[in-house]
Order: sequence, then C-alpha cells, then structure tokens
Amino acid sequence: MPKKTVSFRTFGCKQNRYDTDFLRESFERKGFVVAEDDADVVVINTCAVTARSAQKCRQAIRAAARRGAKVVVTGCYPQIASDEVKEIPGVIAVSGVRERSRLADLVLEALETGAPVVEVKPHVAGEEFEETEVQQPDLTRAFLKIQEGCGDYCTYCIVPYARGPSRSRSPESVIREAERLVQRGYKEIVLTGTHIGLYGEGNLPRLVEEVGRIEGLIRLRISSLEPHDVTPELLDCLRLPNVCHHLHLPLQSGSDRILRMMGRRYDVALFMDIVGRARRVAPDLGLTTDIIAGFPGETEEDFRESLTVAREAGFSRIHAFKYSVRPGTRAAAFEDKVPEKVKEERVSALISLGRELSGAFHRRLVGRDFEVLVEDDREKDGLLAGFTRNYVRCRFSGEDDLKGKVISVTVQEAGPLDVTGSARR
Ligand code: SF4
Repeated sequence: MPKKTVSFRTFGCKQNRYDTDFLRESFERKGFVVAEDDADVVVINTCAVTARSAQKCRQAIRAAARRGAKVVVTGCYPQIASDEVKEIPGVIAVSGVRERSRLADLVLEALETGAPVVEVKPHVAGEEFEETEVQQPDLTRAFLKIQEGCGDYCTYCIVPYARGPSRSRSPESVIREAERLVQRGYKEIVLTGTHIGLYGEGNLPRLVEEVGRIEGLIRLRISSLEPHDVTPELLDCLRLPNVCHHLHLPLQSGSDRILRMMGRRYDVALFMDIVGRARRVAPDLGLTTDIIAGFPGETEEDFRESLTVAREAGFSRIHAFKYSVRPGTRAAAFEDKVPEKVKEERVSALISLGRELSGAFHRRLVGRDFEVLVEDDREKDGLLAGFTRNYVRCRFSGEDDLKGKVISVTVQEAGPLDVTGSARR
C-alpha cells in the first residue's frame, strides 16, 4: 500500500513553529511521507490568541477539507473550543496542546477506523513539561523551546487557558538539545516559550549564561520577555559575547490606567526604566514590541499615551493588534467596548508610527558594518538576506556559498522594513 502523505500548516508564534517541526518528525517516524501540498492528511497547528487568528484557522481547515484532505487540528484553538472544531466537516482528528507526542498515533487510528478522534486533555495544576526534541529543517537559526504555559491571566489573554500553567524544561535537557544543535551546525539558537521569564522560577538568567557558554554557539537570542521579568541579572546577560542585542518587550499600552485594567504587572515608568537600563548595556539594542489598540475603555487620551511612550521608547518594530474579545477572559465582560472603526484607525496609526520608528532606527545603521547570519533562501528579487544581532533584516547581493554563514555587511540604505548593504569579503 502506498504511504500516506501529510502536510503541515502553522499559525501563530515561534513556539508553534517548534511544535510543528516536532510533529513533522513524529509523523515521519510513523511512516507518513511529508509533502508540500495536495497531501492525504493536512495537520493544522492553530493559534487562538485573537478572534482573527481563530477565524484564519477555521478558514484554513475548511479550505483543506474542500480540497478533499483529511484534516487534523491541533494546538491552542481546539484546546479552548474542541466542540466547535470537531463539527467542521472534513476534520478527522482533534487534539489540544498536551497530546503532541501521541498525535500521529491518533491520526493512524482515525484513518484505520474511519471514526473521528477527539483528544483534548484539560490543563491541570503542576503538569509537567512535555519533552519534544526536534531536528529543525532550516540550518541557520534553531528555535529551542524551554518553557510552556502562563499563569499571569492578563485580562485580555486566552493563552493561560489554551497553554495551561507554566512548566519548564530541565536545564540538563535544554543544554543537551542546545549542544546537539550546535554540533549540527546551527549558528543561532532562539530560546522560546509561552512566557519564558517564568523559566525555572527565576532561573532564566542562569540558563542563558549556561547556553551562552556552549562552545561554537555564535548567537543566542531571547525570544520575548514580559517587562516585569527583566531583572538586572537578565540585563547582564546582554553583556555575554554571543547574546543578541535584541529584546522583545510587549508594552501593550502606554496608559497606566489601561495597563492596570489589562492586569499587566508593570507601569510605564518601570517599562521606560528597563528600556533605559538595557540601552546602557547595549546602545544599538533592537527593541521590538506588541501594542494593543482599542482595549475596553481606552480613550483617545489613553491611546495618545501609547503613541507617546512608543516614540520615547524608540522601538525598532511595533506589532500592532486590534483588541478582540476572547470569550472566557475577564476583559470579555468589561463594558465600554471601543467601536470597531476606532480600533481600526488606532491600529493604522500604530502601524504608521511603527514604520516611522523602524525607518529612523535603520537610518542610524547606515555606513556601519554589522554581522549578518545569511539565510538559506534568496529573496524574490534574488538578493541574499539575514538578520543582524539587533534583529534588523539586511539584504545584499552575494554568492550561494555565503548561505548559512555569519558575514560582515556594510549598511548602505535604510527602508522602513529592512536595510540593504554590501557584503564584505
Ligand atoms: S503574560 Fe499575560 S499576555 Fe503573556 S501569555 Fe501570560 S497572560 Fe498572556
């Protein structure tokens, strides 16, 4: 009998990309052949962080089913809405975030019996980190999952319900995988998780130091940190020679009143203090952020504060999100919802401010040399590209033998999205 083919589609964060890589390998081990498209089975690893992300996942599920594929849905969306997901025609298996290691077996069972399989375990206090080592396909940058879950319950956020309580991978296991990745030739490791500041109850700085000491690791990047988790010890990690000068600190709002309503654990003064201290350690720091527009009760004045703080912080990139109601969260019951049109206008204002600030940050780099880790794929226009240590996308012309290497590039032009330059030999 010919082997079944399977393809994968991933929505959401870096952690989901890591999980999909694990699923891809576990399906191969069970005899599936991974295909790009037109596969017999399509696995959709979902995101439910906003109403829009859940909607995009539903569209992808329906589109795959219309092509005649048997659809498997996993990840955050079924974890919070399995009944809704299993009713979508064409879905043969549904799992949450706690059944990754068994998903390929569940799919084989559904294919054999012809009966849909639904396995979504609820989260429980004290649940353990699910060990999932991954051979990653891209040989430049590897994502390494060190933690999962969050117990902060920000009032707008569905993630604690979808991902469950915080649990951390053991330092030994993290180091083992990091060493293996370095031996396989990876130049950069990105530490990822749902809320990695919770790693080992305050042990993230020690872990960063230990991974940073691995011989042969050229770059270590910390994916995203909640502002209140940025301790002096963590900022000291930016002094390590291979730790990237890039922090992603979600601001979410520049109004203290809204931050309190969001249940965030910092105020603007603390946020700006951290930014100032980080810049003293790393003057060229790339500082990226997420900002929500139109949280319930957000006035014009509150929103202007977000714009002002964003400008003062000098973000190198802003990810702007429209607030969307996530049923079951505390903010879903808040009154004084902001009209859709106003939310859209505010998101547009944030996007244009983001472009202006990125452009300004990029212009500061012109005429200087930066190390770029060259990616495997060429851009559509034939240029090579990669990221600098401070997370600026840099494009330049060059030969294929530069792929996968860290090279020096002189930045010549700055745009709002990236910079272009010339490779130094
Ligand atoms: S810290 Fe807040 S926003 Fe981040 S995952 Fe936890 S609850 Fe969600």
